[in-house]
Amino acid sequence: MATSNRGMNPLDALRDRYAEVETECPACGYEDDDGTWVGETDGAEVRYERDCPSCGKVTAHTISFGR
Ligand SMILES: [Zn+2]
Repeated sequence: MATSNRGMNPLDALRDRYAEVETECPACGYEDDDGTWVGETDGAEVRYERDCPSCGKVTAHTISFGR
């Protein structure tokens, strides 16, 4: 795995990955290329949420660091 992304924190990297793979709202199919995932963490897991700008549905992912 490349480690050349110095200065980018792991949370941002994960958020970007979700923003790339999941741009379509599961409820209405609205596609949002600039998906604005909001991430928060309590140290053990990260929760990402995004509000659909079209129908308002909140899509969430929770990722455990799995230490
Ligand atoms: Zn939607």
